[in-house]
Amino acid sequence: MQIVCLDLEGVLVPEIWIEFAARTGIPELRRTTRDEPDYDKLMSYRLAILAENKLGLPDIQKVIAEMGPLAGAREFVDGLREDYQLIILSDTFYEFAQPLMRQLGWPTLFCHSLEADANGTVVRYRLRMPDQKRQAVRRFKELRFTVVAAGDSYNDTAMLGEAHAGILFCPPAKVIEEFPQYPVTRSYADLRAEIDKAFAACAAA
Ligand SMILES: [Mg+2]
Repeated sequence: MQIVCLDLEGVLVPEIWIEFAARTGIPELRRTTRDEPDYDKLMSYRLAILAENKLGLPDIQKVIAEMGPLAGAREFVDGLREDYQLIILSDTFYEFAQPLMRQLGWPTLFCHSLEADANGTVVRYRLRMPDQKRQAVRRFKELRFTVVAAGDSYNDTAMLGEAHAGILFCPPAKVIEEFPQYPVTRSYADLRAEIDKAFAACAAA
C-alpha cells in the first residue's frame, strides 16, 4: 500500500519549455514563471509564439520525442514499479509529455491538457485543477496509501509537505536553503535509496 509520487520535469525528463526553446532556436520560449509570475499570461504568450512560428502540436511532439528522458530514467522508473505503485504528478500537459511517456514505458501520469484546432495549432490550455500535486497526495492518503514524494523545485514543495515523506532531487540551491527539512539526492541510486529508507521509516513508525 505504498505510492511513490514523482515530479516529471527536472526529475525524469528535461525542462520541456527550456529544452524546446533550445532545439527550435526560439529564445522567447525560455521565459518561465520566474520572469512572468502570472501563469495565464505566460501560457498565452507561449501559445502565441508557437502559432507565430507555425509550430502545431505534431511539430511540437516531434521535437519533444527527440529530447528523450534523462539518462537512466527509464531503468529507475522500471525498478521503482517493481516494488511500488508509481504516479507521476506534473504541471506539464499530456500532449507534450506523451512522446516522453512512451520512452518511459507509459507510467501513470496526472497533469494538464491542451486543445488544438483542426490544423494542429494549440489554441487553449486546461488546468485540471489548482494545486493538483498536493490534492492528489492528500487523496491517496485518504485511500490509506503511504506516500513518498520526490521533486526538484518550488512547484513540488506542497506535494512534498503533504506526503508522509518528501525528497528533493537535483534541486536549485535556493530550494535547498528554503526547504532544509527535505533530504537532497543527486542520482537515481541515491533517490531510490532515500525512497526505500522513507518507506521503512513509515512502516516502523
Ligand atoms: Mg520539476
